[in-house]
Amino acid sequence: MDVQPLLAGEPSRVGDYRLLARLGKGSMGSVYLARSRGGRTVAVKVVRSDLAEDPQFRERFRREAAISRTVGGFWTAAVVDADPEAEQPWLATEYVPGPTLHQAVAENGPLPEQTVGALAAGLAEALGAIHAADLVHRDLKPANVLIGPDGPRVIDFGISRVMSSSAMTATGTFFGTPGYFSPEQTEGSEVGPASDVFSLGAVLVFAATGHGPFGEDGTVAMLYRVVNSEPEVGDVPASLRPLVAACLAKKPAERPTPTMILDRVGGAGPQGRQWLPAQVTALIDENTTRLQSMDEVVPATPEPQSPRPPTRAYDPVLPEPPVAPPPRQAEAAGPSHPRTASSKPAGAPLVRKDNPGAVFRTGRRSGAVAYAAMVFLLAYGAYASRGAIEIAENARVIFLLGVGCLVLSGVLSLVRALLPGLRLKVNSDGLLVSRVGLSRQIPWNHVSRVGLVGSGKKQTVAVWVAAGTPAPRSTWWHRVRGYHGGTKVFPVGSTGGLWTRRWQAKRMRDALYRYAPRVYDARLL
Ligand code: AMP
Repeated sequence: MDVQPLLAGEPSRVGDYRLLARLGKGSMGSVYLARSRGGRTVAVKVVRSDLAEDPQFRERFRREAAISRTVGGFWTAAVVDADPEAEQPWLATEYVPGPTLHQAVAENGPLPEQTVGALAAGLAEALGAIHAADLVHRDLKPANVLIGPDGPRVIDFGISRVMSSSAMTATGTFFGTPGYFSPEQTEGSEVGPASDVFSLGAVLVFAATGHGPFGEDGTVAMLYRVVNSEPEVGDVPASLRPLVAACLAKKPAERPTPTMILDRVGGAGPQGRQWLPAQVTALIDENTTRLQSMDEVVPATPEPQSPRPPTRAYDPVLPEPPVAPPPRQAEAAGPSHPRTASSKPAGAPLVRKDNPGAVFRTGRRSGAVAYAAMVFLLAYGAYASRGAIEIAENARVIFLLGVGCLVLSGVLSLVRALLPGLRLKVNSDGLLVSRVGLSRQIPWNHVSRVGLVGSGKKQTVAVWVAAGTPAPRSTWWHRVRGYHGGTKVFPVGSTGGLWTRRWQAKRMRDALYRYAPRVYDARLL
């Protein structure tokens, strides 16, 4: 889960729910992690104010929220409360302490066959429950499937219909995620339950292979392929391929129903925690631990003294955000996570290699190759023209030494360029920088502050160490630089185009926030 502190001006309370943090922002509004008065954790979706002003939107929201509350089943995130009359309408659903399928695959790669089989069973049952309530999901995609400890949970059913026909999308903006939309949806034809089955097929391909069945590039090209091309299912495990291909049939009538899918894979449904690979279970455990510590971090706001008027969605927060920003001082010197260094036996590595986390790599450096080439040319030119230049006998040695130094710096640069790139692992223990078997650990309990500094190609992870801890120093395989009392330790997105860089920087910020919530400083730049 991508938990961010609440910003100044964001609500501290919605209905009877105390907001703890922001989970995300979608086309409809923001999603917040919240607690009910009785202590249940929920996800509250608050509608954007511009949408809330549209009376037709409000009417549809009212209707769909009411139907959503009737959806049962095991594998849907239950809608537990809603207020369509509030200034900004909102909807509260059961909180699922896991990543979305999209995050799980983006961070850990495709899921194993057994997990995908269980996912197929769970999602088919979820669709059955949604369709039984006379709803069609319309936007089943990896970001709308949460991976819970005991099985998947589908979110946003009903809501998608409100959005798909909202005034905002009537202006011609494409609503939804093209690679997961059915051909009939793409063409704007009648959409029924079979459309969700097509999306289910696409979601399963993503889970099993890490890419959608119609590729990941350009919206228009993808829309064309959804309608006209055969899906790419060659990488899907053979046991699931026929089922997935059937779900992806172009004609709705040729697709299986959720019941037919369950007849094929029902026996493989999620069974306890064994349904997930260890890395995903670890992510869920981390989320759960983080959740438990939320109340310690968020100062409790007093319960309202009098009943609230029903049309008021929330109280705006006054300038101070309710979640304290990460501390800058060594108050964070204690472990930022229960599994950090101090709980480990003496002699154990401070930053464990096998502790799951996010991994980043730098590419080989074409800049260093260019530098080496230039230096060699210069040295050659100087050496070749030594006869033409008049040099005093005693300066000759110095001249040759200079040429030798140039050659040496070129060789060193070439060696560095040819070495495999740097690797950085960010996990709940700290940072682990490595290159060909050499590594350096920077545990969180040695760090008082960490963040991204610089911009564009020059974005770098910088750390400030806690008092009494030595700062990381340059070595021949890992060069570091000072930065306003801290140390720049790892370049982010030094290779690739603008989008790669932005994406890498976002991944890095997410990883730092997730694994070092107490010392991560989002305000650095
Ligand atoms: P959405 O606007 O629906 O895409 O939601 C934004 C983010 O909120 C998602 O990516 C999820 O990480 C998170 N989220 C939404 N609903 C829930 C829920 N019921 N439990 C946990 N996280 C949720």
